[in-house]
Amino acid sequence: MPEIKREVRPVEVNYVCDACGKGMMARCADMDPGTGAIEHRCLICDHRQTFHWREYPRIVHIGPDESI
Ligand SMILES: [Zn+2]
Repeated sequence: MPEIKREVRPVEVNYVCDACGKGMMARCADMDPGTGAIEHRCLICDHRQTFHWREYPRIVHIGPDESI
């Protein structure tokens, strides 16, 4: 297979706090390798929330014709 290239652009994905609706959630502990649980906390109100196999904020790359 030949090497192929395409242009993509980076997009930041954030999660807005469910408790206060203002702060962004940020990872505050390492992922549990068994369950994939990653604890996050709100940068404004300190609300804790656990996501599984997902981390915020994160950067994804999308092609020019793809939607977010
Ligand atoms: Zn909050």
